[in-house]
Amino acid sequence: MPQRHLREAAADAARQTAPRGLGLDSEMVRRRMVQRLQREGLADERVLQALSTVQRHEFVDSALAIQAYEDTSLPIGHGQTISKPSVVGRMISILFGGANAGQQGRLGRVMEIGTGCGYQAAVLAELSKHVVSIERLRPLHEKAQMNLAAVRTPAQIRLVYGDGRLGYSAGAPFDSIIAAAGGEDLPPAWLAQLAPGGRLVAPMVAPGGRGQILVVVDHVLEAGVGRFVRTEHEAVLFVPLKSGVS
Ligand code: SAH
Repeated sequence: MPQRHLREAAADAARQTAPRGLGLDSEMVRRRMVQRLQREGLADERVLQALSTVQRHEFVDSALAIQAYEDTSLPIGHGQTISKPSVVGRMISILFGGANAGQQGRLGRVMEIGTGCGYQAAVLAELSKHVVSIERLRPLHEKAQMNLAAVRTPAQIRLVYGDGRLGYSAGAPFDSIIAAAGGEDLPPAWLAQLAPGGRLVAPMVAPGGRGQILVVVDHVLEAGVGRFVRTEHEAVLFVPLKSGVS
């Protein structure tokens, strides 16, 4: 029928017009990104689900939105970057290996150091009870506030402007602590604010000062006595963990 053909042609044309931003297509593009991460070894279904839910393109400048679903870090201004999805996925999967997270099947109370644009905080909020995220650069803290106000997250996110090396004692103890910037040492406040059964994952300057590695610390409680068990993992590349605010 000519009329049906016309309708089909119109529908085809509509599909072929240039996408407005990423708009309606973003779900599909995101699903493809997640499938790629899965092929590359990211296995935790909960993490894959969270990565396919959070709209990463909403956290970068519109000029970069087209690259938002590539597995790459991108500039977010002020010399900082949004983390690579594979690294966000890897670190959050490691957190799920913590005793409390393992038991609950959720990340519990989470502290993130280095909010940046707020992307990882939004992913964490899909998987936890409460997220505190600290940023030392005021313009980025404010950018994250705007970005996160525009998305709906199941868990509450508290954004804190301050030096993340000090942690956030008012919200402690945390079941999961994750740093998005790497320093020479692990700030004592992070260990002090890690709940028994909690796990911390952070990039750290490698011994000898060459490059960074991922470090994991578990707060183990045995017969009422707590101790910290530290393991070292693969090489990573993060922006430096700095002191003070700016
Ligand atoms: N979590 C972000 C990544 C941000 S990059 C994402 O979702 O992609 C790391 C951030 O850590 C930068 O914004 C940097 O300013 C911040 N940072 C570095 N040292 C810090 C500190 N001591 N306290 C809080 N934030 C810090």
